[in-house]
Amino acid sequence: MLLPDMYKKTIFDINYPLLKERGITCLIFDLDNTLALLDEKECPEAVISLIAKLKKDFKVFIISNNTKKRLKPYEEALEIEAISFALKPLTKGFRQIIKKYNLKKAEMVMIGDQIPTDILAGKRFKIMTILVDALAKKDLKITSFNRLIEKRIISRYEKKGIFKKGEYYE
Ligand SMILES: [Mg+2]
Repeated sequence: MLLPDMYKKTIFDINYPLLKERGITCLIFDLDNTLALLDEKECPEAVISLIAKLKKDFKVFIISNNTKKRLKPYEEALEIEAISFALKPLTKGFRQIIKKYNLKKAEMVMIGDQIPTDILAGKRFKIMTILVDALAKKDLKITSFNRLIEKRIISRYEKKGIFKKGEYYE
């Protein structure tokens, strides 16, 4: 089952106090189409202020399949650790931070816009997952392939009546 634990339109719609209530101490964000558009080289101001607020209550990380160069301005603007080339749905990024920061799986949540990478990685690592809608249709080339898989997964879930695009839940 690849159903995310929560589903929200954007990172700004997530109920962070509820996450805190549920014992989450560590937020892991995907970058492209979750925090920012693919062609936004600099981190948007709204994201900087959201993450600054969240850092008071949570440890915050970015785990991305994109390059170190792509992540650098975000890492600097947000003053957080960002892991590049994570190869999600592999879980090596999670393993890296869980060890380094002595976290428990029950404290961690993966937040991203793609089921076959972000959500699957979170499920495989057995942590909470939150799906958000992609900020734009424009994706990396490799992602276009993932989107095809994702469409299939979503249409299967829609037929079963357990998930519907745009019907958000927490
Ligand atoms: Mg993404």
